Amino acid sequence: MKIILMGGPGAGKGTQANPLVERFNFPHISTGDMFRAAIKEGTALGLKAKSFMDAGGLVPDEVTIGIVAERLAQPDCAEGFLLDGFPRTLAQGSALASILDKLGMALDGVINIEVDEAVLIPRLTGRRICRKCGSSYHMVFNKPEQEGVCGQCGGELYQRTDDNVETAQNRLNVYNSQTEPLINFYQEQGLLKRINGDQPIDKVFADIMKALG
Ligand SMILES: [Zn+2]
Repeated sequence: MKIILMGGPGAGKGTQANPLVERFNFPHISTGDMFRAAIKEGTALGLKAKSFMDAGGLVPDEVTIGIVAERLAQPDCAEGFLLDGFPRTLAQGSALASILDKLGMALDGVINIEVDEAVLIPRLTGRRICRKCGSSYHMVFNKPEQEGVCGQCGGELYQRTDDNVETAQNRLNVYNSQTEPLINFYQEQGLLKRINGDQPIDKVFADIMKALG
């Protein structure tokens, strides 16, 4: 099974990758993880990626595409793989299409985990932290028993400034504008599987399995 897993900030994409890997026993190809590992190991690729990140920029497409091409040519990808975090733009999607073409491979599906913004914003802004002991809470996933009060020490809970609605909305806007043309690209090829991500984790997984047939 050769699939791409897509989903914006807060959609729960990360939560679905592990059960998919367990179920299909295929390599989990996350460009983010590959860059972090390469940087940690100090490889040529890692140094290259780090130089861009240190300069405050994104790793350029040619570098990212290069490592994906190398990775997909490895023998363990012949039967299948899960691409996670790549492609993210239409340009990357076109590059991937030609990589797969050269390798004589075809995608089986593109999973897009979709969640309404009205649900995503509280997920992305729900974190609360205790001023006194640093305990972390979440207004959707891990509510404190008493609003605004730490259950551990009675301290006052606060919201970090980078967890605010404006930042969250901004992240969603950037993600949506980047991925919309890519989603249309896969829709036109009949590969897109839209999954409702506003459900319990098990149900989302079950829907993914059903969509993959
Ligand atoms: Zn506390």
